[in-house]
Amino acid sequence: MKKIKTVDDFNFENQTALIRVDFNVPINELHEITDDTRIQYTIPTIQKILSEKGKIVLISHFGRPKGAPSKAFSLKFLVQHLSKLLKITVNFFENCIGDSTIKKVNELKYGEILLLENLRFHKEEEKENENFAYELSKLGDIYVNDAFGVAHRYHTSITILPKFFGEKKCIGFLMKKEIQYLNQFLLGKGERPISVLLGGAKISSKIEIIENIIGFADYILIGGGMSYPFIKIKGGMIGDSIIEKNQIIEKTLKKIFHKYQDKINIIHLPKDVVIADSFKNESNTKIVPIHSIPNGWMGLDIGPYSIKNFCKIIEKSKTILWNGPVGVFEFSNFSLGTRSVAKAIANRTEKGAFSLVGGGDSIASLKMENCEKKISYLSTGGGAMLSSLKNKTLPGISAIIL
Ligand code: AMP
Repeated sequence: MKKIKTVDDFNFENQTALIRVDFNVPINELHEITDDTRIQYTIPTIQKILSEKGKIVLISHFGRPKGAPSKAFSLKFLVQHLSKLLKITVNFFENCIGDSTIKKVNELKYGEILLLENLRFHKEEEKENENFAYELSKLGDIYVNDAFGVAHRYHTSITILPKFFGEKKCIGFLMKKEIQYLNQFLLGKGERPISVLLGGAKISSKIEIIENIIGFADYILIGGGMSYPFIKIKGGMIGDSIIEKNQIIEKTLKKIFHKYQDKINIIHLPKDVVIADSFKNESNTKIVPIHSIPNGWMGLDIGPYSIKNFCKIIEKSKTILWNGPVGVFEFSNFSLGTRSVAKAIANRTEKGAFSLVGGGDSIASLKMENCEKKISYLSTGGGAMLSSLKNKTLPGISAIIL
């Protein structure tokens, strides 16, 4: 953290802060925000700048409009919500570059705030484009990145735009918190026992993490679709369960088994699974050992023995990191495993453990159980969290380091 400036290193009086936020919040069919955590976490950064009588210009993306303006992806719907949270009027402008945008910024008084339209209405945002960055750079004196959710992306407003601000660039409080917690964890500084629970479908996105944490974690719990490559490589029968076919995965798994022979017993896989004869909620089900799933059947949740075993480990952990569901939790009949570990992590946190949870699915399952508030820190970026756990310096952070 030494060389990274934060908003605390600047006084924003008579300065215009161009803040890259991640307001890509989930919404329902009625276009209502279902979770405003990402907005809430940026409030301290905004308030610090406003209290110093700085001018604020907010830039963000929302969804995947593929480079063309559209009402469905406009950021305008956030104005009312943000105004309510900040208790001041939030201004809005229908573009994020160009003379009319500059005029709008110039009209803004110090101590006022302006939200600009979706960056991704310009295809250049996702293509590291110098011209687009130059146009954006005209909108502020100090660049602030408080968008952890996209800090792992090589996008113009993340990696190119800060270059135009020389030393006048920094991270906001949301980013600082995310980096601090993740670094603390990665340095093995958490109180022991340290447990890491990894689930989900794409093992390729998480396998490197195992190599990175096996040296200091006490327990690594693997669930969901991530477990089947392990079972297959050990000669088990996985039937039609999800498996990412990729030679690199096989090679990496073999390497892990070989290189960390003495540590391999800290990796806990499910012993039993709930299998289904089709990929839908209303299918026939059975509980079987994970290594003997018949053809025509697929494992969609961890079984009761595994739930008990995973929860037992969570209950004795003092530091817990979780990313990814242990089953197809979107189907109510296969959500018990994920909901049970979510509850166990929340309860353990209440008893004094530190918990860090990331990834939209894990957070959604905590919400199903109404226990997300008990978690020590909910990361605002699943992908960025995974990249950090692979010990990769996020491009959004590198762009700020002088
Ligand atoms: P990921 O993006 O890799 O974290 O994967 C999340 C997805 O994994 C969720 O949509 C889950 O439904 C899915 N998932 C978890 N366990 C399984 C499983 N056993 N079979 C198929 N999909 C799964």
